[in-house]
Amino acid sequence: MFLPPDDADARRAIAPVICYPTDTLPQPDMALYQAALAGAEIVDAVTAAPREACTFRVSAGGFFRIVSIDGPQVGDLNLWHADDLSERFYSGKTRALHGTHVSTGDRLWSSFPTLRPMATVVEDSLDWYGIDDFGGSVHDVIGTRCDPYTGNLLAGTQYHHCCHSNLTRALADVTGLSLADAEPYVHDVLNVFMCTGFTRDTGQYFMKASPVRPGDHITFFAEIDVLGALSACPGGDCSAEHSSDAAACFPLRVEILRPADGALEGWTSPAVNAYDRSHGR
Ligand SMILES: [Zn+2]
Repeated sequence: MFLPPDDADARRAIAPVICYPTDTLPQPDMALYQAALAGAEIVDAVTAAPREACTFRVSAGGFFRIVSIDGPQVGDLNLWHADDLSERFYSGKTRALHGTHVSTGDRLWSSFPTLRPMATVVEDSLDWYGIDDFGGSVHDVIGTRCDPYTGNLLAGTQYHHCCHSNLTRALADVTGLSLADAEPYVHDVLNVFMCTGFTRDTGQYFMKASPVRPGDHITFFAEIDVLGALSACPGGDCSAEHSSDAAACFPLRVEILRPADGALEGWTSPAVNAYDRSHGR
């Protein structure tokens, strides 16, 4: 370990700057979205069984709502463009733009080269939670998804119902792809209802019992046509462990809602990113 320099305290005292100030970020018209949601009707619903994943499609201009039913449960969400699996949710850039956890008004952004909003959070019944004394908050974009490879690395296990595997099976089923072909499209998730943070002393990723209770929900506006997959994590409320069958697990429901005709007057689905992709050549 190196000795601190004489000006160590002065260097530490420099105030941070926000990497990506959002004052030039195109803002969603939340009043329009919320008015459209108020008049929307549920047109379909699917359920992710405990330790399994379900899939759903939502047309641009529709809504999807993830609902806690039966008991506290965390969900792992993947999103793709409905017609192009290469355009998928980019949790890292979403984190850079909106912070470690998302709530009402934040958007889920797609990967390069499209980098556009795929979905916008329009309501979140856990928005009261804020940031707790441990630095924990809800709906993170800092975790990856529980997966059998890390489980094998750390514990030598062969466990088949991690969110990564649940999402892989669900994507294979809905697309007709083999498991091997579907797996590379599974990506880092939005951890719906999960309560997480980083420890202040060691900077380690932590989880704690989710504050979600049956009836809690988070609702998204689909900015483009999306294919979604939601896994009911084997960690249940993620209060103790994941990547095993030890935790109490509950299903999660996904409701698809369609707004009334004319409710989105003036709204258009976002175009792909306008960077010319010449990369200096
Ligand atoms: Zn999981």
